[in-house]
Amino acid sequence: MLTIEGNIVNKDKTFRGRIEIDASGMISKIGSPTGVADFIFKDELIFPGFIDLHVHAREDMSHAQDYKEDFTTAGEAAINGGVVAFAEMPNNPIPPVDDVSYETKNNLAQKSPVEVLLYAGIGNKTSPLNKSVPYKVFMGQSVGDLFFTSNEALEAALEKYQEQNVSFHCEDPKILESSSGALTHEKRRPNEAEISAISFALKLIEKYKIIGKICHCSTIEGINQIIKAKRRGLQVTIEVTPHHLYFDETMLNENRKIFQVNPPIRQSRENRLALIAALKKGDIDYLVTDHAPHTIAEKEKGASGLTHLDTYGPFTTWLMKEHNFTPAEIARICSSNPGNFFNQFSTRKYGEVKEGYIGSLTILNPNKSITITKEILKTKAHWSPFEGMTFPGRVVMTIIKGIPYQSKLGTGQEIYEK
Ligand SMILES: [Zn+2]
Repeated sequence: MLTIEGNIVNKDKTFRGRIEIDASGMISKIGSPTGVADFIFKDELIFPGFIDLHVHAREDMSHAQDYKEDFTTAGEAAINGGVVAFAEMPNNPIPPVDDVSYETKNNLAQKSPVEVLLYAGIGNKTSPLNKSVPYKVFMGQSVGDLFFTSNEALEAALEKYQEQNVSFHCEDPKILESSSGALTHEKRRPNEAEISAISFALKLIEKYKIIGKICHCSTIEGINQIIKAKRRGLQVTIEVTPHHLYFDETMLNENRKIFQVNPPIRQSRENRLALIAALKKGDIDYLVTDHAPHTIAEKEKGASGLTHLDTYGPFTTWLMKEHNFTPAEIARICSSNPGNFFNQFSTRKYGEVKEGYIGSLTILNPNKSITITKEILKTKAHWSPFEGMTFPGRVVMTIIKGIPYQSKLGTGQEIYEK
């Protein structure tokens, strides 16, 4: 059994209390502090473990991309960043698209020190699995066969996924094609590509009664369409990433290749601040990383994608300090909302510090700053877009099913240990 006392933050209530986690890794009791516990935290914040709904861990049965990341290193980077579970994307060389390929990949994912939920891919010839799983569809270019070159082909494929849970990567393939000669990555993947694709995704969600999620939204115009659709009663939720909240084109210079990502870093500061406001207000549902590790050599050659798992927790302290997010708002977008998504497909309950829920917790010190350096990263890719930058706070401990991992961030030693 593990006992922890301190400031507990749920989405609707912050209180000083005592958490008891039993031998099976579940929260068995929440009570008042006694002054005697395995860990007593004074100023730190104890959150229901953070869950990242958008991770590319790279490993599949081809093992062709294990040099970028695998389930073990992705899980270690997650713990390092205070993430206790993640959902993983299917754009692999051998994608999980049916019961057999899904189970095979799922067996590989068991290596991860944190629980992994796999998305199944949707392609031209795929059908829903027998098991209840979340799906991902790529509108616009991706790898392998898992993308569509026209809206007609996409609709023909999605018709089979009525009432299923589907996440959409929204970039209109026709607009990408017609912009492909533009000079910069941002202009080759313009705002209009996302806005147009979101509009079409919402039509499909409505027509086929899909439970939709729009991935890594980067334009406020696109987000406003989704908010309107939510108010009309559509079942649709919204992801946003740290990079679209933290960076805009005014910050791009010689770092352009490192910062290349799809959808791209957007032009204006106003757009970026509007995303932050929508996240704080509750219109955007989830903070997700879109952790997409490539080697530095691949980035130099134009690979798109950023690494973020290691810095998820520190990033939330920036939201609190610089943008006045309350701890409860962080619990909503990092724990409770993603927990509600995850729990539909897991046998365990995530998202709240409550009896019967999983004993996986994220403990932050919001006032002990940290500068991000290569030395403190666990991702196999071994770089971060935040290198050299300082966040106002850090993860001090990640607890996975009752097992504490103490952060050693900043000491130059092992980053965490059991
Ligand atoms: Zn992605």
